[in-house]
Amino acid sequence: MTLQGKTALITGSTSGIGLAYAKTLAGQGANIVINGFGDKDAIEKERVALEQASGAKALYSGHDLTKVDQIEAMMAEAAKAFGGVDILINNAGMQHVAPVETFPVDKWDLIIALNLTAAFHTTRLAVPYMKEKKWGRIIQTASAHSKAASPFKSAYVTAKHGLAGFTKTVALEVATFGVTANCISPGYVWTPLVENQIPDTMKARNMTRDQVINDVLLAGQPTKEFVTPEQVAAIALFLCGDAASQITGANLSVDGGWTAQ
Ligand code: NAD
Repeated sequence: MTLQGKTALITGSTSGIGLAYAKTLAGQGANIVINGFGDKDAIEKERVALEQASGAKALYSGHDLTKVDQIEAMMAEAAKAFGGVDILINNAGMQHVAPVETFPVDKWDLIIALNLTAAFHTTRLAVPYMKEKKWGRIIQTASAHSKAASPFKSAYVTAKHGLAGFTKTVALEVATFGVTANCISPGYVWTPLVENQIPDTMKARNMTRDQVINDVLLAGQPTKEFVTPEQVAAIALFLCGDAASQITGANLSVDGGWTAQ
């Protein structure tokens, strides 16, 4: 497959799964818009590497996607540079682990804003161009937590279930325009997001680090292995191809069997 001439915008792509999407789609010649936080020099290095891999352009747009005006600014930068976004991957996300009765209100608001509401804003701004082009791909990094719950993750599970419903709705609205909308739902992928929640989970469950990894994180994953970011990105690449043109409104699991239980 080649994605030459297409532009992919991937939110939260300075790290983890998002960076793997960016590398994979750049490998097929797409222009890339990366977004997310991190060390300026490291991000610039990644941006240059993406251009080398794609032979096309890569743009960094470092806006905070919990804020509507900044999402609008990012989408405007992408439109100015490339005309519009052909492949939108809503991937930026954060986690907080705490019992519901002490769940910090500001963390709830942030998680809903980033993991759910940001996808609404990027989608509403991307769809007109996709409809006009009669081609588009909207891909969400949802989660096994869009299908099942775990204790102490109320905001995250709520946002991801919402994202799955939102994606089905959008899929129906754009179905006759050559545009598909799908969720990819990973189980545990070894990224900074997972590593960073280990201390809070240790505290919430009174466990050691090894106990959290084996008895909490991988407990529900029957293969007992973490998913890799590259495996998630390979599904996104498949969804961009002609073979996937009739896959829309789907929620594809890549979770080592977690949600089969
Ligand atoms: P990560 O922490 O490695 O990456 C998150 C990215 O989002 C980073 O680029 C970060 O800078 C960016 N980001 C954070 N706050 C932002 C903000 N306010 N505005 C813009 N960007 C922001 O995490 P990851 O594990 O790669 O997660 C990516 C997605 O995959 C998330 O939506 C997450 O919920 C989902 N997911 C992860 C796992 C897993 O096990 N790692 C499993 C299922 C789903």
